Amino acid sequence: MSEGSKDFKSVGLSKAIRDNLKVLGYLEMTPIQEQGLPLILSGRDFIGQANTGSGKTAAFALGILAKLDMAMKKPQALIIVPARELAEQVTGETRRLARFAENTKVLTMAGGVKEHLKVKSLNQGAHIIVGTLGRILKLVESGVLDLSGLKVLVLDEADRLLETGTMKDIHRIVSFMPMKRQTMLFSATLPSGIKKLSETLLEDPAQVTIDSQHQLITVNQLFFKVTEEEKPDALLRVLGHYSPESCLIFCNSRVACNTVAKLLRSQRIDSLRIHSDLEQKDRTLTLIKFDNRSCRVLVATDLASRGLDVKDVSAVINYDLPSDHELYIHRIGRTARAGQEGLALNLYLPKERSKLKAIGEYIKMECPVMSLDELEKLKPVASKPLMTTLYISGGRKDSIRPGDIVGALTKDAGLTRDEVGKIHILEVNSYIAVTNDKVGHVIKFLNEGKIKGKKFKVGKA
Ligand code: ADP
Ligand code: MG
Repeated sequence: MSEGSKDFKSVGLSKAIRDNLKVLGYLEMTPIQEQGLPLILSGRDFIGQANTGSGKTAAFALGILAKLDMAMKKPQALIIVPARELAEQVTGETRRLARFAENTKVLTMAGGVKEHLKVKSLNQGAHIIVGTLGRILKLVESGVLDLSGLKVLVLDEADRLLETGTMKDIHRIVSFMPMKRQTMLFSATLPSGIKKLSETLLEDPAQVTIDSQHQLITVNQLFFKVTEEEKPDALLRVLGHYSPESCLIFCNSRVACNTVAKLLRSQRIDSLRIHSDLEQKDRTLTLIKFDNRSCRVLVATDLASRGLDVKDVSAVINYDLPSDHELYIHRIGRTARAGQEGLALNLYLPKERSKLKAIGEYIKMECPVMSLDELEKLKPVASKPLMTTLYISGGRKDSIRPGDIVGALTKDAGLTRDEVGKIHILEVNSYIAVTNDKVGHVIKFLNEGKIKGKKFKVGKA
């Protein structure tokens, strides 16, 4: 492939869109964007298959943004996702991509807090709706959500979507849309249920599949043979050796998750756990704290973490080897995102040789098996200082933007850009990360001062 073909310019996006992409640090297209965007922008129905972290959101969001009519007051695009957290993430990414055009309204309709406020804002003209299947169905059937002006329908994480509802639910929603529209389906895998769905919903779709093996070249994968009893100790040694800046530990069961969490606690290693019976707001905060590096370690099962955009993780540790190779790819796809180098560390039991072989065949390489004693010879990764998450009692509804907070902290409070971490603005509150040594200073400064001319409460989250 020649240099330059990965430039967003080559697919004909406007200069305003491209300038914003540069600001976001999207310098070149990922493979699904490179191969998908020309087809998506041509208006064809589309099936995109690529694993987690490959940039599928931008592929469809840029397609949507390119054909939005800002003057039209009805929703023009609907993105259906399988979980609330995902709805938030897709909304966030779409908003960032839409920054080039002021006034683009992207609305999450996924149940939960303040939905009545959103219904009001829906009537004031939202361009793009992101929501969960059940919630969207309810809103269309009750006549609150008007889909008669819809131009684009996206089914994101389609394989998982069908676990949250039936094909009938999707068809029911579609029956409220114009026949003439662009329908896109994105998925990491294409099981038969999804193929069937696409046949009934899509018209002469173009399909792009990004070979998942192809994306794994930059992940450094290591396999350590251990007995069940050695696992806890092995985990601590591996963690101690690499001390990754951010690390996702996968277990095959909730029980194992709890065991690992307890183990880490006993060693005073700060960690978070994501499991399906956490309350929604706790899940959101957990993901924010992990994403902004306030906590280095997140312990998860596949069920709780599938599809979540946990970004740029420095290392994935498989405390248990996953039950199949697809899942393996899914898990380790969270490290080395968008072309950076990543690390996947695996513990396996002597009886799991055949699993190892299956994975090796699938990734088309020999799984590099090591003994724990060889660890010392391997190069560890340098890590950065830990951050702390602070809570601000204001959010999007107070028109707070990330720039306002960065400005207040770097210009007025005297922090360097490195001492300010990620900023998450939610509807009614926000979270910011600052380095541990600045916590007291920032809390005092923000509590005494104002943001956007208003006073807010600020404290440790
Ligand atoms: P997927 O939906 O395929 O799992 P996402 O759309 O969530 O993946 O993207 C994964 C991450 O990669 C996100 O943090 C996104 O901001 C980032 N990303 C997407 N496209 C690009 C790009 N062209 N350049 C750099 N980063 C990108
Ligand atoms: Mg996605």
